[in-house]
Amino acid sequence: MTEINRRRFLTGAAAVGAVTAVSSVASAGPAKASTASVPLTASTQRAVVIGSGFGGGVTALRLAQAGVKVLVLERGKWWPTGPNAQTFPHAAVPDSREIFYSSWTAADAVEGELPYAGLEEKIVGDNITAVVGAGVGGGSLVYQGMTLQPTEEVFSTWFPSGYDYSELNSVYYPRVAQMLQLETAPDTLINSKTYLPSRVFAANVQAAGYELEKIPMPIDWTYALDELAGAMLPSYTNGDCAYGVNNGGKHSVDVTYIAQAQATGNVTVQVLSNVTRIARGPNGTWLVYVDVTDTSGNLLSQQIITTSALFVNAGTCNTSKLLVRASAIGDIPDLPEAVGQGYGSNGDQIYLWQDNAQNLGTPQGGPVVYGSFQWDDPTIANTVIQASMPPIGVDLSGLENLLPSLAFLGEPLLLNLYSTILVGYGVSSVRGKFVYNSSTDAVDLQWPAAGDATLDARINQRITAIAGADSTVTNTNTLSNTTWHSLGGACMNSVCDLEGRVLGQRGLYVLDGALMPGTTAACNPSMTIAAIAERALDQIVLNDVGTVF
Ligand SMILES: Cc1cc2nc3c(=O)[nH]c(=O)nc-3n(C[C@H](O)[C@H](O)[C@H](O)COP(=O)(O)OP(=O)(O)OC[C@H]3O[C@@H](n4cnc5c(N)ncnc54)[C@H](O)[C@@H]3O)c2cc1C
Repeated sequence: MTEINRRRFLTGAAAVGAVTAVSSVASAGPAKASTASVPLTASTQRAVVIGSGFGGGVTALRLAQAGVKVLVLERGKWWPTGPNAQTFPHAAVPDSREIFYSSWTAADAVEGELPYAGLEEKIVGDNITAVVGAGVGGGSLVYQGMTLQPTEEVFSTWFPSGYDYSELNSVYYPRVAQMLQLETAPDTLINSKTYLPSRVFAANVQAAGYELEKIPMPIDWTYALDELAGAMLPSYTNGDCAYGVNNGGKHSVDVTYIAQAQATGNVTVQVLSNVTRIARGPNGTWLVYVDVTDTSGNLLSQQIITTSALFVNAGTCNTSKLLVRASAIGDIPDLPEAVGQGYGSNGDQIYLWQDNAQNLGTPQGGPVVYGSFQWDDPTIANTVIQASMPPIGVDLSGLENLLPSLAFLGEPLLLNLYSTILVGYGVSSVRGKFVYNSSTDAVDLQWPAAGDATLDARINQRITAIAGADSTVTNTNTLSNTTWHSLGGACMNSVCDLEGRVLGQRGLYVLDGALMPGTTAACNPSMTIAAIAERALDQIVLNDVGTVF
């Protein structure tokens, strides 16, 4: 395989996350920035929110509804969706829209493609790679959308006792469910041809003696049914939704929380605006340093924004990095010592499952239909789900040059791995940390080798049992340990209070994945991040709006 084709293959495979894990490319580091002098402006805002994912979306909407003018700073761009749009990249034809420019590598440059403010950033740490979203809507643009609420027993084991689970259960989780319009996949769809892997998974889970559940998703499944009827091009029914859903019907944060926030007239979303530094200013203010870029990450202008309310909601890794650096270089004196600590991987384990008895092949309907919860023991609670394998393309152009007779194959050639994806995740008491590196002036993610070993063994046992004897399962995390579900770094009770107020720092808040205690209790993170933020905003609107800011 030529270098170009190898890169194409790996990038295409990255669409599934599973094969992301086998990529050995390292992060290229910071954004491309022109060294030429650029305009610098200063302004003052009442409230600034960094990031437009779940934490940013909830914060912007609830503050705006309380009458607060809010500026949302988002490093990525808008990604408008369908029906039948071509906004998002197709896994079959990898292109620059997949990768955020800070993850751009030398291998990418070989092709002459420009770096882009694409959808995913890969943060390569010690013993772990964290994949995070970029763009208006944050991780919700590329997430599958599994929206799970933990049980009281598992939640109470891992979250501080100050939370009243019954209140979360009766008010805040339902509020999130209503905002995201959760639905499970209809049987008509599941019984259609391309959802064979979902049906095989369901049968095998039950044969192995485990419980089976349909997973609530933020999806209007009539879009998928319309695809079946031929009224739309495939997005769901061929699993081509790993980099966003071109047909729409996915209730991601941009089209729910952020859209409603903008409709109040109180919210401005400023895109392609990368916050490089935060600092404490004079008289109880906060300073936000912003690089405004083009879509390739080239610096166009700089801003210094002063505010009395700063919500650092840039997602677990980037919120932690901003805070750890601010602490280390003295921009924010007296931050709690635990800042940067308490990082958890959610125990993600991404497997390829090849069933030798039947061809699970391509195309596969997606993104996710069924899962199996094992939540009875809160100390080892875990979830296993089946996700569709996207139609991965292989660029043969280099090979065709060498062997012109291959040209008839055309491009892209779809790679059939005869496999589907199984993902396991759950609770683990192991934690990593973010550490300032003075020689690079950057913040590094450190994760202990074999950190989640106990949970991994339990997940492996379950996945092996579900796959059955006549199967081959490959744990891609043993090749490269990758997580989609980073949590912690500015944890509740050690860095922040339960409403995300950073301890001892009036007007500074964290309301995203970084606030979580390194876990979301055996569930995917988004629903709990949003529910905790919803609860916090009720308190902040009641107690801080009009007093702190
Ligand atoms: C491939 C994939 C699949 C996933 N599947 C699921 C799933 O099915 N279910 C689930 O619950 N979770 C899933 N997740 C995880 C989920 O997306 C995250 O847990 C969730 O989005 C975190 O919300 P957040 O508010 O903490 O941050 P994010 O949603 O990550 O939002 C942070 C935002 O801040 C922006 N930002 C970052 N740094 C800066 C900066 N310096 N300046 C300006 N803006 C900045 C980012 O661009 C981003 O838009 C998945 C994640 C990935 C990557």
